[in-house]
Amino acid sequence: MKRVYNFSPGPSVLPLPVLERAAVEMIDANHTGQSVMEMSHRSKDFTPIIEHTESLLRSLMGIPSNYTVLFLQGGASLQFSMVALNLAGIEMGSPRKKAVYIDTGIWARKAADEGAKYADVSIRASSKDRAYTYIPQAPVPDPADAYYHITLNNTIVGTKWTELPETGQVPLVADISSCILSEPLDVSQFGLVYAGAQKNLGPAGTAVVIIRKDLIGKAPSWTPAMLRYDIHVAEGSMYNTPPCYGIYIIGLVLEWLKDLGGVEAIARLNREKADLFYTYLESSKLFRSPVEKPCRSLMNIPFIPSGINPDRRKDMEARFIREAAEAGLVNLAGHRLAGGMRASIYNAMPKAGVEALIGFMERFEKKEG
Ligand SMILES: *Cc1c(COP(=O)(O)O)cnc(C)c1O
Repeated sequence: MKRVYNFSPGPSVLPLPVLERAAVEMIDANHTGQSVMEMSHRSKDFTPIIEHTESLLRSLMGIPSNYTVLFLQGGASLQFSMVALNLAGIEMGSPRKKAVYIDTGIWARKAADEGAKYADVSIRASSKDRAYTYIPQAPVPDPADAYYHITLNNTIVGTKWTELPETGQVPLVADISSCILSEPLDVSQFGLVYAGAQKNLGPAGTAVVIIRKDLIGKAPSWTPAMLRYDIHVAEGSMYNTPPCYGIYIIGLVLEWLKDLGGVEAIARLNREKADLFYTYLESSKLFRSPVEKPCRSLMNIPFIPSGINPDRRKDMEARFIREAAEAGLVNLAGHRLAGGMRASIYNAMPKAGVEALIGFMERFEKKEG
């Protein structure tokens, strides 16, 4: 068996023990004589699976009892619409509360653009002026604002919020797609958080939404049923067929994380891996991080060759990505809109993978230098 070190930003690496267990259970899960893929979502076989996944998520994240957990389809991107619709969707004649967004990158921008189709969006700060390489000062909202949206970890540019904005009574909403369960997070600071599964949780096709109960039931009457939190909540994520297999794999990933010691333990490991890589970048004569130090992500680390003329740089990047792949280090190209390279080192990336990448980069640097 050949396994590569996969630095993809998403879908991304999953823990090997999870894949091995899924393989064993593929045709007969829990002695049911069926694959999880074949089970009725309303059967006595599947119910314990979704309940187990939710209870593991609740205990690992310390989700308070006044929050509901949903497993939905449509990825993080559908949440861009659902958040705006459900928390600030404009009803005929109703007062227009502002939906506040902080623009920290392409995903944050998309969330705001999508939200603006249904709500009165107000972008109150942006880091676009310096190519999103930092997190801007977060202004205090007006108490009448509907919600305050941030992207906690910016997958493409490699920044993260290290301090949450003070929003008072205004619900803080966060896209936590690429940092969920990577470090402790106090859910009670938020009105709602959401994440697409394919970064740190499991396969693509499932989005996790954690919503404070008092925020449920505010969608305008014209909202499509599939986009209403209150309907999904009332039906326990089973208004229609949920992404059953994804929910099952998320459960296996959460068991793996629990056995590892939970979020505190993985956070220590994540800091170790990121420190190793950033320390190497600091010492490198060829590569550097474009991101300002205080807001560097633990999960997504872009890097660029420095002091090289643009023609040679493009060439060198292509060679780097090709030779790395030949060495079993794959998916290191930066986002198509950002360029350069990027190593995504999610929970499931072992420290040995980061060490192998650094070793490769040191050899590359010597050869090119
Ligand atoms: C990947 C990503 C998304 C998009 O996720 P989809 O599930 O593909 O819709 C949104 N926000 C962030 C921060 C992401 O990393």
